[in-house]
Amino acid sequence: KLVSKKWKAKPTAIDLGDGVAIKDGEMAIITGPCSIESEEQIRKVVQHCVDNGIKMMRGGVFKPRSSPYAFRGLGLEGLKLWYDIAHEAGIKIVTEVMQTSQIEEMYPYVDVYQVGARNSQNFNLLDELGKVDKAVMIKRGISGTIEELLQSAEYVFSGGNEKLILCERGIRTYERASRNTLDLNAIPILKAKSHLPVIVDPSHGIGLRAYVPQMALAGVMAGADGIIYESHEIPEKAYSDGQQTLDFEQSARLAAWIRDSFAMR
Ligand code: PEP
Ligand code: MN
Repeated sequence: KLVSKKWKAKPTAIDLGDGVAIKDGEMAIITGPCSIESEEQIRKVVQHCVDNGIKMMRGGVFKPRSSPYAFRGLGLEGLKLWYDIAHEAGIKIVTEVMQTSQIEEMYPYVDVYQVGARNSQNFNLLDELGKVDKAVMIKRGISGTIEELLQSAEYVFSGGNEKLILCERGIRTYERASRNTLDLNAIPILKAKSHLPVIVDPSHGIGLRAYVPQMALAGVMAGADGIIYESHEIPEKAYSDGQQTLDFEQSARLAAWIRDSFAMR
């Protein structure tokens, strides 16, 4: 496989410009709300990132929701608004693309296209992202194996787009005490098998706010190249995933812990 270390031994570095990169040997921190909700919310999260030296912000404008009646996101208009505010502050944007028709319209306003867990094996979407000259982060499928994640990455890579990032976000198991089961095993295994950077999402991985920091740090120690987690000024009022979202104080503390842990690794 092209994404395998056997094909390319040297780790792949994803350069997002302005000195921002996701790569082996650095620790990327990506935070932001589950959903982009309003201009006011965007400004607050951007300021939180600036205050804490965080260069990449996450957020969904096209949301994959289990219920069709739940908030589905602000769409392209929300993304444009977010882009203007974030880029003014030097913050890069990580956001989910749900379908092929959105790739082109989102292109000018995105730094990393996120492929969500539910679309991890949407092979048409992966084919099209293979033709794009912009970074793509692929999340592991809800019940996806490590091998399936690598095969999904292979679709994009073999299509010509080598700016790829893998994301462990927890898998569905029989355990119901947590939302998902963060598979820490996947981190060293992915790092050993592939030259692509590996990011860990402890928010979706455990789904419980109180334990997100521990699992983030476990991810750092397991060898992750970055952590992506959800934050919001008032998590209880978040339109989605509030139960697993940190407030700004918790997020600031976690960002510092992530850096300290990485320095000790
Ligand atoms: C998200 O990042 O908010 C999200 C929907 O993630 P996942 O695809 O991992 O469920
Ligand atoms: Mn979410």
